[in-house]
Formats: sequence, C-alpha cells, structure tokens
Amino acid sequence: MMRKIFTPSRLRLLVQAGFALFLVWTGVRFLAHVNWALGLTETFTPKPPAVEGFLPISALIAAKRLLFTGQWDPVHPAGLVIFLAIVGMSLLLRKGFCGHICPVGFLSNLLERLGRKLGLTWQPGQRGRRLLGAPKYLLLLGFCWVAVTMNLADTEEFLRAPFNMVADTKMLLFFQSPSAVTLGALGALAAASIVIPAFWCRALCPYGALLGVLARLSPTAITRNADTCVSCGRCAKACPVGLPVDKTLRVASPDCQGCVECVGACPVKGCLGVSLFGRRIPWWAIAAGCLALLIGASLVADALGYWQSPIAPQMARRMHMLMFGGMPDF
Ligand code: SF4
Ligand code: SF4
Ligand code: SF4
Repeated sequence: MMRKIFTPSRLRLLVQAGFALFLVWTGVRFLAHVNWALGLTETFTPKPPAVEGFLPISALIAAKRLLFTGQWDPVHPAGLVIFLAIVGMSLLLRKGFCGHICPVGFLSNLLERLGRKLGLTWQPGQRGRRLLGAPKYLLLLGFCWVAVTMNLADTEEFLRAPFNMVADTKMLLFFQSPSAVTLGALGALAAASIVIPAFWCRALCPYGALLGVLARLSPTAITRNADTCVSCGRCAKACPVGLPVDKTLRVASPDCQGCVECVGACPVKGCLGVSLFGRRIPWWAIAAGCLALLIGASLVADALGYWQSPIAPQMARRMHMLMFGGMPDF
C-alpha cells in the first residue's frame, strides 16, 4: 500500500509542489519587503534570503571572488550558499535539483503531463536531441567566458554595483508588470514545453547546462540490469528528456535530471534503479539527498553568519529609493 502511494512520480510531484509553495511564501514576504524598501509602506518586513537563489549570475561571480580572495559575498550571501549547495548536489546526486526542486522544472513537469494527456507529446530523435540541447551550452560558454575573463577589480565592482544590490527587486518588478513581448515569449515557451517535454531545460537553460556538465562527475546514476530487462521500452517513454534508458546500462547523459520517472515506469522489480558508486540505493535517495543538502547548507550558513546580508535594512532602502526614483529618507 505504502509503495503504491509513494511512487517515484508522485513523490517527485509532492516535493516539487512543496518547494513551489515555499517559494510562493518567499515571494509574498519579498513583495512586502520591496514595498517597504520603495517607501510604499512603513511596515518593515525583512527580506527573505532564499530569494537570492534567483540570482545565479551574481552567485557565479561571487563564487569566483570567493575562490580568489576567500571572502564571502556580503551583498547576496544566501545566493552564494544556494549556488554552492546546488553545485554540490550535482556533483553528488546528478541534476536532482532540476528533477525535484527547481520551480521551472516543476512547471515543466506540469506542462509535460498536460501534453501527455492531450496526446501532443513529441520526442526528437538522437540527432534532434543533440541539436535541441546545443543553445544552452553556447549560453553557458558565454556566461563562463564573462566570469573567467573578469579581473578581480571588475568582480568587486560588479558585486558592489547598485544594479547588483537591487537585482532581486528588479527581477520582481520585471515579472510583476511583464511587457507584451515577455508574455509572448513565456507563452511560446509554455506551448513548446507541452509538445517537447522540458523544452526550456533541454534547449535554453544555461544553469541546467552547468549542472549537467558537473553531473558527469557524479557517482550517482540510473542503472539497468540487462539480465532482468524485458525490453518493454516503458522507461524511455517515461523519460522527460527522451533518453534511451532501455538501451544503456548506466545513464550518464548530462541531460538526465535524476527525476526517477523511468524507475517508476519499469514493470520489473529491481531491474532499473538508482546506483551510488555502482551499488543500488533507494530511488527516493536523490530527492531526499537534494533536500537535505539544501536545507542543511542554509542552516549551517545561517549559524555561521553567511546567510543574512550584513547590509543594514535602512541602507538597502536608501539604495532602492535612489535606484527606483523615490526620495531618499535621510
Ligand atoms: S534546467 Fe534550468 S530551469 Fe530546468 S530545472 Fe534545471 S535549473 Fe531549472
Ligand atoms: S533517465 Fe530517468 S532519471 Fe534521468 S531524466 Fe530520464 S527519466 Fe529522469
Ligand atoms: S522499463 Fe524496465 S524492463 Fe522495460 S525496457 Fe526499461 S528497464 Fe527494461
């Protein structure tokens, strides 16, 4: 009975939905904070640090600064914690972040389910899959080029620039009143994701591309027992990113999201599963490990003083007033 309730697919959806709810709560708190920072209310709400997880470029630059100076970014410290935790996840648990936690991955999952229900799902062949995945690596190369070629003085300047300080607010305002072009692009991406599962993730997300490259080093993988496999192909059909799971003994593709949908689809007990260093571990270990890493990293960082920004709220408010055209309150 327990096994039927907690199928890989259902547990994945549950974890994704739980995290999405947490982000909605974070978003509401952040909106209240921004309203205070912009002088629209005098009721102070502290900024929820988790919102900095949406600033991966700033975190990438901050990671470089950390590497070369040993100093933690004081502007978006939680962003750096989240970024490093996600990097750690990929090195250990493949792209489990994409498969179980990322809110865009959750939306992709919902749109994929809709596409399958409507019978609209289409998976490109091997060549098409490679072509589809190419743009995200080009974008990743671009971002890495900027991060690598930036000297330390420029890194410092970027991190302390007013634009970076209010980058999370800019993002909120951008999505609060999207232009017609933004809405059109989002609509097109949603429509594409109904037909081609995880379209954005497979084709365009540079963050996912980075995590996929790191995941190549991961000791965790989906493995298939060729002796018990009945070659039904259900695993490959269930795979959102169209990997030929039924034709390989160990899924090593950088596109594998560790979502374990393939494991749930396999009708032969023990034939397909998750392995760590070649030894089978429970299929729920990827989701549990990712959550434990993310929550653990934030708790440790908070205890060590690397989670909350040391910038005083009044200073942040002044910066918002200056950046967004209000009157400084001093
Ligand atoms: S590929 Fe990008 S958008 Fe998709 S789930 Fe991963 S991080 Fe999120
Ligand atoms: S191979 Fe399995 S775990 Fe990897 S993406 Fe496909 S369905 Fe998910
Ligand atoms: S679903 Fe299981 S039995 Fe069927 S092809 Fe995949 S691994 Fe083999």
